[in-house]
Amino acid sequence: MMNETTIDETSISAKFMLGKFECTVVSDGPFTLGSPSKAFGENSADEVTRILAELSLPTDSVNLQQNMLIVNTGRRRILFDAGSGRSPDFGAKAFGQSTGHMLKSMAKAGISPDEIDVIAITHAHPDHCWGLTDPSGKAIYKNATVLISEAEFDHWMSPAALDPSRSAAARFIAQGAQANLSPYIDQIAFVDDGDDPIEGVTALLAAGHSPGHTLYQIESEGDKLLHWGDLVHHPVLLAKPDLGFVFDFDGAQAVRTRLKVLEKAASENTKIFSCHLDFPGIGHLSRTQGSYEWRSALF
Ligand SMILES: [Zn+2]
Repeated sequence: MMNETTIDETSISAKFMLGKFECTVVSDGPFTLGSPSKAFGENSADEVTRILAELSLPTDSVNLQQNMLIVNTGRRRILFDAGSGRSPDFGAKAFGQSTGHMLKSMAKAGISPDEIDVIAITHAHPDHCWGLTDPSGKAIYKNATVLISEAEFDHWMSPAALDPSRSAAARFIAQGAQANLSPYIDQIAFVDDGDDPIEGVTALLAAGHSPGHTLYQIESEGDKLLHWGDLVHHPVLLAKPDLGFVFDFDGAQAVRTRLKVLEKAASENTKIFSCHLDFPGIGHLSRTQGSYEWRSALF
């Protein structure tokens, strides 16, 4: 019988250099989206089961990592997304105890929240922005400017996001976004497509998964890394990139964006950072006809 391997995914970190930039990936802890048919829809259930089996992944649950990237440019320390947080009203309520651990992972990696100068938000979904505040609702990153696209900010902060005509789940997600972004209202700076808000960091709008979903191209001395936010959550979406995903805001646009970015990243052999693929989420893509495979770049 094989011994079981145990990894404490709630306090791990990895470090690597990108040119002169020192990069640290910290884990916020893994979480599950439940059954594959819940995540990818009933219609594709048989095909998804086949893909999961081919990839030697569990066929009964969709499990995601929560990798968060911190880049020290020498001048600024940038955190990309803030994890799901530990609030009893939001993060802990939605995800339980397995996630919301990135402050612990950061402490182990020797990084204090006060040292973070900039938080670059890819989008304001729970697992990316609910960790901006502590369980009492106060801002954790007191010295940070928060970068976010205007479309993303407007979508979540609008009173329409809480309209009673929306589902209770949608309103809950919007309440969490508002509770986490509001304490930073004087620290917010909008980024648009092609903007370089920090030397070596370029924002790339890639709407679909959310209205203002933003990717970040990070570059130092010719060494490049594409932070692709939630373009791809799971290896199933690499094997079949045109599949629906339950949390995509605009399914058709999300698929178009995914196909376009995957095609470009594979043909240019781009180094990618992924929040939700296996820790630490650094890899390249291989393409075979219409599907892609992830090749880990660090281990
Ligand atoms: Zn996510």
